[in-house]
Amino acid sequence: MDEYDKLLDRARSQVPEDAFKRSGERFQVPDVQLMVQGNRSIWQNFQEIINVLNRPGREVLKFVSGQLGTAGIMEGSQALFNGKFTAELLDELVNRYIDSYVICPVCTRPDTEIHKESGVYLLVCSACGARTAIRPV
Ligand SMILES: [Zn+2]
Repeated sequence: MDEYDKLLDRARSQVPEDAFKRSGERFQVPDVQLMVQGNRSIWQNFQEIINVLNRPGREVLKFVSGQLGTAGIMEGSQALFNGKFTAELLDELVNRYIDSYVICPVCTRPDTEIHKESGVYLLVCSACGARTAIRPV
């Protein structure tokens, strides 16, 4: 490794990993890991996914259980739903959530936060500054 590579390497190691993950053009969300146990479905990597989405777990849980038409609860780092579902369906719902509540419709980046102002929910983008009114979950 030459000196320049070493410098690059050092510079890179000082940037928090998160900055790479969130500033990329592509938004990398892990696949849902789902396990069906009896009459319940256990979303095993729920915490991991909401960390990537940068959204409160209860919001994501509310959205997903609403779409599934069932009750869901958080338990530790997992989410539990009544009924038998598939990981593919959950992946689809996560993507729907991302389209509606994470991706900025103006610049299509995921660097957004949800703000509530005078009763209106806004998707505020830190990349382009757009403020888009959204429906509450
Ligand atoms: Zn934007």
